Amino acid sequence: MSYYKVDNLEQYFKHYNKSIREPRKFWGKIAEENFTWYQPWDKVVEFDMTEADVQWFAGAKLNVTKNCIDRHLNKRGEKTAIIFEPNNPDEEALHITYNELHQRVCKMANVLREQGVKKGDRVCIYLPMIPELAVAILACARIGAIHSVVFAGFSSKALATRIIDSESKMVITSDGGFRGSKTIELKEIVDEALQKCPSVSTVLVVKRTNTAVNMKEGRDIWLQPLLDEASDNSVAEIMDAEDPLFILYTSGSTGNPKGMVHTTAGYMVFTAYTFKNVFSYEENDVHWCTADIGWITGHSYILYGPLLNGATTVIFEGVPSYPDHSRFWQVIEKHKVSQFYTAPTAIRALAKEKLEYVQKYQLNSLKVIGSVGEPINEEAWHWFNDHVGNKKCPVVDTWWQTETGGIMISPLAFITPTKPTYATFPLPGIQAVLMDDKRNEIEGNQVVGSLCIKFPWPGMARTIWNDHQRYKDTYFSQYPGKYFTGDGALRDEVGYYRITGRVDDVIIVSGHNLGTAPIEDAINEHPAVAESAVVGFPHDVKGNALYGYVILKETGEIRNKENLFIEINQHITDHVGPIAKLDKIQFVSGLPKTRSGKIMRRILRKIAEGNFTDYGDTSTLLNPEIIEEIQNEKK
Ligand code: ATP
Ligand code: MG
Repeated sequence: MSYYKVDNLEQYFKHYNKSIREPRKFWGKIAEENFTWYQPWDKVVEFDMTEADVQWFAGAKLNVTKNCIDRHLNKRGEKTAIIFEPNNPDEEALHITYNELHQRVCKMANVLREQGVKKGDRVCIYLPMIPELAVAILACARIGAIHSVVFAGFSSKALATRIIDSESKMVITSDGGFRGSKTIELKEIVDEALQKCPSVSTVLVVKRTNTAVNMKEGRDIWLQPLLDEASDNSVAEIMDAEDPLFILYTSGSTGNPKGMVHTTAGYMVFTAYTFKNVFSYEENDVHWCTADIGWITGHSYILYGPLLNGATTVIFEGVPSYPDHSRFWQVIEKHKVSQFYTAPTAIRALAKEKLEYVQKYQLNSLKVIGSVGEPINEEAWHWFNDHVGNKKCPVVDTWWQTETGGIMISPLAFITPTKPTYATFPLPGIQAVLMDDKRNEIEGNQVVGSLCIKFPWPGMARTIWNDHQRYKDTYFSQYPGKYFTGDGALRDEVGYYRITGRVDDVIIVSGHNLGTAPIEDAINEHPAVAESAVVGFPHDVKGNALYGYVILKETGEIRNKENLFIEINQHITDHVGPIAKLDKIQFVSGLPKTRSGKIMRRILRKIAEGNFTDYGDTSTLLNPEIIEEIQNEKK
């Protein structure tokens, strides 16, 4: 019996039970039957969860690019591996076959080697969403260098911090990047960052925008001439299962970004398995994940997961609003996308726009639509389901983290019945538990608690780069022996999970624990509301009271805000209960968000408290200017 693909709900339970009773057999069989190894492992898993010491497939030898590319060449050499859709819809899309990808990655690998990059070296990749980004990542993996991708929307300061922390010796960047109507001067940002980064000896520069740039003698080299000279034959480095594959920094929604380290074999097995099952991937499906490759979602579900399955994956350079708000839908029609995977922030933004944008395009190639990054509120879920999925595509609300490497709790498309706002069941192999305040595991259903995972899974991060103590303290100390996710969740009567928000954001009002997600959900149900964020602020009687920041839809109609406040509180009373009513409301034009699109609640909390200083690390903020506006308008 193969465990690689779950075919129906009954089988899900079978596989799930097997994965808990015999995790070694379960993952061992999956690893053995679906991947190429130079040498098998000695032990499937060894761990000490109190020391945060976990090893999967130790003793095995492999190269992940052999699995992503080489092994497909016989059967799928001429199949499209990557569809590149440029920022400008008038620029032609590129179809890169597996053969071509192999060639490109080998050439790039040879360039890296010639430039002195060795196994274990860190290479910082700061590129826009162009094929070279994928090629650079895979070339690092080919030669055993550790890639550290930094989202190309980050400032020079944020980039410098990450280069310094990872001690990267090389940066791969481009002259610039296209994003909507803007051109971003990436090379200039790199130059500024490198003033503070003595570890970097080489900068490889891709030409994309033809912007004039400074090339520093002895350090900066145009990439293309090197590629032209390079051989397209490159022997893959033989890696140990537990050799680091990459470092990736978390979004920084809750504090300083953490450099999560993912290792080779476990990450490979986990992303391949989760991709296949969550999206119910079938040969010839076209997969489009709209995340940037600079986030874990892009690593796992634009690159590694799809390529490991020999899939066709879309890399989209642009933004959803350029040239207009129909861009996503146009791309789906154009490339006949089968699985469309995006984030609640994008869904909410597009749902605010006219429906004609969606209705203009044929979306009937879609089979599965997915969401990740934040709790998806009920209204957004329905909009996505009704207008994008046309009520026939399962919506996979996938809960996971940079730290988990891959999807942990999610419906399996066509198998798990979906339920709005619920991430539903943990995937096979994922032992999710809820913990109470006294650190006891909460048994049974219809319960609420802190979400932990009590057994290792192959895709989990192994450490924080250069700071194992922080890794241990952050994730393994609150609930000894368990991985603590930092998120709160409830488990409904059938065992479905709903993520209610960060545990740190839970607000205790008159002794009741309130998660932010269900309250925001209720607020967003109001027809005039586009988006909202709720935080607590100190209150003499209740301990804490609720402060709501609300963005209104641009309906054009002028409403009485006093009435709106009353109506919104009525919605909360109806959906959650009177205990969760807002004490204060502030109508705002935007919310502080990370560059990955998440609301930074810690800043909103400070403002609600009237404490306008000490916002902590805000380098990952997309719209810092909004802070002042909200501050000034606070009553
Ligand atoms: P940092 O850890 O630096 O504060 P971050 O937690 O935002 O940043 P990520 O790893 O990108 O960094 O995000 C993971 C978090 O995103 C989860 O812990 C969870 O809070 C939220 N999340 C992701 N997917 C979902 C989902 N489907 N439903 C609810 N929440 C989600
Ligand atoms: Mg986090």
